[in-house]
Amino acid sequence: MDAFIVSIGTELVTGQCLDTNAAWLSGEFARSGIGVLGHITVGDDTERVAAAICQAAAEAELVVVTGGIGPTPDDVTRESLATAIGQPLELNPEALAGIEALFARWQRPMDDANRIQAMIPRGCGVIPNERGTAPGIQAQFDGTVVIVLPGVPAEMKAMFRQAVATVLADEAGGNSIATGRLNCFGISESKVGELLSDLMQRSRNPQVGTTATEGTISVRVTARGATPDAAQRLLAADLAEAQVRLGRAVYGVDDQSLQASVAGLLLQHGKTVATAESCTGGLLARRLTDVSGSSAFFHRGYVTYSNESKSELLGVPCEMIEAEGAVSEAVASAMAVGCRTSAGTDYALSITGIAGPTGGLPPDKPVGLVYLGLASADGVIVKRLLAGEHLTRSQIRDRGSKAALNLLRHSLLELGSS
Ligand code: AMP
Ligand code: MG
Repeated sequence: MDAFIVSIGTELVTGQCLDTNAAWLSGEFARSGIGVLGHITVGDDTERVAAAICQAAAEAELVVVTGGIGPTPDDVTRESLATAIGQPLELNPEALAGIEALFARWQRPMDDANRIQAMIPRGCGVIPNERGTAPGIQAQFDGTVVIVLPGVPAEMKAMFRQAVATVLADEAGGNSIATGRLNCFGISESKVGELLSDLMQRSRNPQVGTTATEGTISVRVTARGATPDAAQRLLAADLAEAQVRLGRAVYGVDDQSLQASVAGLLLQHGKTVATAESCTGGLLARRLTDVSGSSAFFHRGYVTYSNESKSELLGVPCEMIEAEGAVSEAVASAMAVGCRTSAGTDYALSITGIAGPTGGLPPDKPVGLVYLGLASADGVIVKRLLAGEHLTRSQIRDRGSKAALNLLRHSLLELGSS
């Protein structure tokens, strides 16, 4: 089955708003093994929207349209859909009841304008929207299923799975799809490809593919089976096999983040951590505290940007900074040890590096050079990372903070196996 994505909104064609919906939808389709033939983006213009829907429907069996179903006069998608499929707009009682129920839940009076959102082309299905006032619409158009969803990304995403899952199940003739993901860090995409090459053969079921995003490599597995159970079994077998081959490079499954994985290990072993950061400016502490309940393992974070603060707060000797430079193995080590002593935690992580784009001193100290320290009862280890001069400042900070989390993760995994 092939799909086409139509994004609607004048703000999209004028560059005021980035079309993240099309990118997200394409990712979801890819995961389900559905080919996306193309994207069309048009402004809020009745004729252009109708033409875009017709064009997409002529090419693909499934069309997902987002945007233009708000309550204001510039929202023309309902009208355009009605024109495209040759049906009149009429007040849909189910859609109206849904909108009224939402206002009742919000304890707010409903504006008359919101009634417009219950105007649906005759014969179309309504897709409930739990988060906003615009119900989605499902239409049949010359053998193509057209699904219209709100432009607001959070509403669109919440409605997509439910809306499209039914269509996909129908179209697949009862076939079920099960998907899963393994997330890896500290391994290259090519290495993952090498370890999983036989599983990644294109004609295979399940399909296995990799995606690299900001230093993280995801292994996506999509299994098809005659029943949900059969698909799940195939999926589980491949995930287990991939996990064995990738070993400790895997930090989590599905949406699990690196920090959530580290948090889980810290909690499991009853350990605590503190951070001392220079070039990442607090990003590592932010990542650790992104996890709900982090006060159970995260005690404090120092942002020691100046040389003086590294000495004053962490006890790094001025002479050491003078002799070795602030970005050095010795300083990363002293920062971690000083941080652990002052915070009284089981672990302390330190980061010092050159985030650029200025401040690099190649060849010894290029932009992207980052030292990570990890202090524990066993002593201190320091890792030298060359993030790469081609990366931006924020990417270098991103990689540095993730690599620090990964260093702690590996240390905690050692505890588990001893
Ligand atoms: P609409 O459903 O057209 O009223 O869209 C409401 C809001 O959703 C717009 O103002 C945008 O902020 C956002 N939005 C609409 N379409 C997209 C899109 N394709 N990608 C990301 N955001 C969007
Ligand atoms: Mg709009």
